[in-house]
Amino acid sequence: MEAATPLYHFISSHQPLTQKQSRCYATNFGIVNAAQTLPDTSPSTSLESLSPLQFDYDKKFNSLNSVKTMHAKMIKLSRGWDTKKNMQYFISGYLEFGDFQSAAVLFFVGFAENYLYWNSFLEEYTYFGGNPCEILEVFSDLHSKGVNFNTEILAFVLKICSKLSDMWLGLEVHSFLIKKGFDLDVYTKCALMNFYGRCCGTESANKVFKETLIHDSLLWNEAIMVNLRNGKWAEGLQMFRDMQALLVKANSLTISKVLQACGKLGALDEGKQIHGYVIRYALESNILISTALINMYVKNDNLKLSRVVFDSIDNLDCNLPCWNSIISGYIALGCLDNALELFHEMKSSNIKPDIITWNCLLSGHFLHGSYIEVLAILRRMQSAGYQPNRNSITSVLQAVSELRYLRIGKEIHCHVIRNGLDYDLHIATSLVDMYVKNDDLTSAQAVFDCMTNRNVYAWNSLISGYSCKGHFEKAGNLLNQMKEEGIKPDIVTYNSLVSGYSTSNCIKEALGMIRRIKSSGMSPNVISWTSLISGCSQQGYFREAFEFLIQMQGEGIKVNSVTVASLLQACAGLSLLHIGKEIHCLCIQNDFLDDVYVSTALIDMYSKCGSLENAQKVFHRLEDKTLASWNSMITGLAIYGLGTEAISLFDQMREANIQPDAITFIALLSSCKHSGLLDKGWKYFDHMKTDFGVNPTIEHYSCMVDLLARAGYLDEASDFIQSMPMEPNAAVWGALLTSCRIHGNVELGEIAAEYLFKLEPYNAANYALMMNLYALSNRWNDVDHIRDKMEAMGVKIGPVWSWLKVNQRIHIFSTAAKTHPEGGEIYFELYRLISEMKRLGYKPDTRCVYQNISEVEKEKVLLAHTEKLAITYGLIRTRNPAPIRVINNTRICSDCHTVAKYMSLLRRQEIYLKDGVRFHHFKDGKCSCCDFW
Ligand SMILES: [Zn+2]
Ligand SMILES: [Zn+2]
Repeated sequence: MEAATPLYHFISSHQPLTQKQSRCYATNFGIVNAAQTLPDTSPSTSLESLSPLQFDYDKKFNSLNSVKTMHAKMIKLSRGWDTKKNMQYFISGYLEFGDFQSAAVLFFVGFAENYLYWNSFLEEYTYFGGNPCEILEVFSDLHSKGVNFNTEILAFVLKICSKLSDMWLGLEVHSFLIKKGFDLDVYTKCALMNFYGRCCGTESANKVFKETLIHDSLLWNEAIMVNLRNGKWAEGLQMFRDMQALLVKANSLTISKVLQACGKLGALDEGKQIHGYVIRYALESNILISTALINMYVKNDNLKLSRVVFDSIDNLDCNLPCWNSIISGYIALGCLDNALELFHEMKSSNIKPDIITWNCLLSGHFLHGSYIEVLAILRRMQSAGYQPNRNSITSVLQAVSELRYLRIGKEIHCHVIRNGLDYDLHIATSLVDMYVKNDDLTSAQAVFDCMTNRNVYAWNSLISGYSCKGHFEKAGNLLNQMKEEGIKPDIVTYNSLVSGYSTSNCIKEALGMIRRIKSSGMSPNVISWTSLISGCSQQGYFREAFEFLIQMQGEGIKVNSVTVASLLQACAGLSLLHIGKEIHCLCIQNDFLDDVYVSTALIDMYSKCGSLENAQKVFHRLEDKTLASWNSMITGLAIYGLGTEAISLFDQMREANIQPDAITFIALLSSCKHSGLLDKGWKYFDHMKTDFGVNPTIEHYSCMVDLLARAGYLDEASDFIQSMPMEPNAAVWGALLTSCRIHGNVELGEIAAEYLFKLEPYNAANYALMMNLYALSNRWNDVDHIRDKMEAMGVKIGPVWSWLKVNQRIHIFSTAAKTHPEGGEIYFELYRLISEMKRLGYKPDTRCVYQNISEVEKEKVLLAHTEKLAITYGLIRTRNPAPIRVINNTRICSDCHTVAKYMSLLRRQEIYLKDGVRFHHFKDGKCSCCDFW
C-alpha cells in the first residue's frame, strides 16, 4: 500500500514503526482513501507551496474531508512537515469536525516529546465534546498493536487514567514501564503517584515514592499532595516535616494544602511553624498562602492570629479571597459583628464584595438566628447586581423555613424555576425541606416528584414531614419506595419515624422502628433513643422513659443534653426527686449545666419534686437566664403558692430587660390564683395586652375565672365567662365548678357541669365534683342521678392513689389496689394520731364525703383517703429528719389537708404533698398554701 510509507514521518523519530505496524495503523487512521483520491497530484508546484515555513495557519478547514485531504497531501508531498505547529493545526482540525479518533492517533504518534501540550490536548478534546475514554481506547489499540511509546506519553496516559479512574489500564501502563525497564523521570513518577493516589489509595502511591531513590522537590511536593488530597492529613503533615528536615523546598500549593491540614488536625503549633517558614521565604504576598494561613488560624479557633495575618497583607485592595476568608472566619466563630465591621470597611475601601462575600453574610446571619436580616441581605445583594446562586438560595430557604414565611419561600421557588436552578439537587432538597417545615406537604411532595435524582436528604426531609404530621402510611410507603429506587435509608430516616411515632403517642411503633434500625444492620444512636424517651416523657409514660434510658445505656450510648432534659421532665412528672438529683449529677459530669434547656428542665424538675430551694439554686447560678428559665422559676414559685415572691421575680425579670410572653403571664396569674391575690391578678390581666403586647389566650381567661371564683366571686366569674371573646373550654368551666363546690353554690355548679358533661362526657372527675357538690347540700337523689348517668355512659371514677418512697422502695396506696401489707399497723397509728388531734380541736370535715351515709360512716370513709395512709406510713417508717414526700393524683380534700397540718405539728415532721394541682408544704401545723388551694 502506497500510503504506508509517508506515515513514517509523523511517528516520533526515535521510535520508528515497522512497515507492518504502519500499515495496520494507516487503515485505522482512515486518511488513506483521501490521500489516494487527491485531485491535484502535480508534485513540483504543490511541494513548494506547502512547505512548512509558508503554511497559512489562519486559514480554517471547511469540512472533515478538507482536513483529511490536506493532511494526506502533506504526508505525501512534504518531508519534514511534522512540526509541532503543523501537528497542532491538524489535531485541532480533526477535533473541530468531530473525528476524535484521528485526533488522538495523531497526538499519540506525533506529539510524544511535547508534554507541555498534554493538558491542553485533553482540554481541547473535551471542549469539542470528545469522550476522554476514547483517548484511552486509541492508546490501548495502538499499544496492543505493538506501537512503542516513550515515558512522557505513558505519563500522559496515566494522568487520564487517574482522571477517569481507569485502574486497570493504569496498572497495565505501570507494568509495561517496569517490563521495558524504563528509567522513569520525575514527571512519570509524579504521574504514577498521582494515579495510585486517585485509583488505588495512598499506600500504593507512597510505595512508589519510597521505591524512588532520589527525591527531588517536585516528587516530594507531589507525594505530600497525594496524601493530603486523599484526606491523609496527618501523613501529609509528617511527610512535610521530613521534607523540611532534608531542606527540600515546598511549593506554594503544597504549603497552602499543608496549612489546611493543620486546620483540620487542630495542629496550631505546626501551623505557626509553617507560618514562620512562610515569613522566612517571604511568601506572605502569595494570595493562596495568606488565605490558607487565615483559614488555618480560624480552624484553630484563633481569630486573633488570623486577623494578624490579614492585617499584615500589603496588597489588600486587590486581595478579595483574603477578605472573604477573614469574614467567613469571624462568622464561623460566631463573631457576626466583627464580620459586618470588616464588610463595611471593605466597602469603604472600594473593594467590591463578590458572591462569596455575600454568601458569607447570608449564612452568617442565618447561623446567628437573624433570619429577617438574611432576607434583607438578599435584597441588598440583588440590588448590588448579584444573582443568588445555590449557596445563597440554600441559606435563604433555611431562614424562610425558620421564619415560616411560606409566601417568601414560594417567591424564591419561582426565582429558582425562572433561573433553571430547580435541577440543582442541593436547592431542590432545600425547597422540599422549606415546604415540609412550613407544613405545606403537598408542595413538598410536588417538588420532590419533579426531582430527577433524589439524594437521601430529600427522602429524609419528606419522610420526616409526613411522620411529624402523623401520616405514617405515607411515610412508610416512601421508605419502601426509597429502598426500591436503590437509596439506602440511613439512621436519620429511621429516627424521623421514631420521633414521629413517639410524639404521636405510638410508643410501641416507635420501639418497633428502633428494632428495625437494628435489623437493618445499624445501631440506634442517641437521637433515636432520645426521641423515644422524650416521647414517653411528653405522653406521661415516665416509667417507660426510664426503662428506655437503661436500655440505651446498656447499649453503650451516652446521653446528651436533650436526653437529660427529657428525663428531667419525666422526673418532674413522677416527682422522683431522688432520680432527678442523680440526673443533676449526670449533668454536672457531662458539663450540661451551661445548656439553658437542661438548666430550665432542672428548675422545673426541682420545683415539681418539692425542692424549691434547689430550683432556686440552679436558677441563681444560671448566667444567661433566658425567658424560658425565668418562666420556669416563676411557675415554680406559683406551684408553691408563693405569689408575692413570684411577682417580685417578675419585677427582677423586667429589670433584666427580658420581655415576658404568654407563658410568663400564665405563671403570674396562676401564682396570684394560688395565693388569692385577686387585685394583682386583675392588674396583670389588664396590663398584659396594653403594656406588654401579649394577647390573653383561653389559658389566661381560665386563670382569671379560677382566681375570681375561688375568692368567692362566683357571679363575677360567671359574668366574666360570658364576656370572654372566645368559646369557654372545659378548663374554664372546670375552674368554675371546682369553686362552686368549695363555696357550695349548686345553682352555678349545675350550669358549669352541664357544659362540662357536653365538652368532656367521659371525664369522671367532673361527675365526681358535681356529686360532691350535691352531697354537700344533702341532695342525695341528684347524687344517685349522676351516678346512674355515669353508669349508663360507662364512665368510671379512676382509682385515686398516693405514693411515697421509703427506704428506696415505692409504696403505693390506691383505692383500686389491695390494702397495704402493713395496713393494720398503719390504721392503728392513724387512729392514735386522730385521737391526739381531736384533743387539740380537730373535727373531721365530713362534707368531703358524698355518699348518703351516717356521720360515723363518713368519718370512716375519710380515714381511708390514700393521702392520710401514705403520710401515716411515712411517719411510721421515716427515722431521719428528712421531709416525707407524698404524691397524690387528685386534688387534696380539705379534711386531709387539715389532718396533714396536725400531723406535721404532732410529729414535728415536714411533709411535702404534691396533689394533682400543686404543692403543699406542711410544717409546724401550717401549710405553705395558707389554706388557699
Ligand atoms: Zn382526703
Ligand atoms: Zn396546703
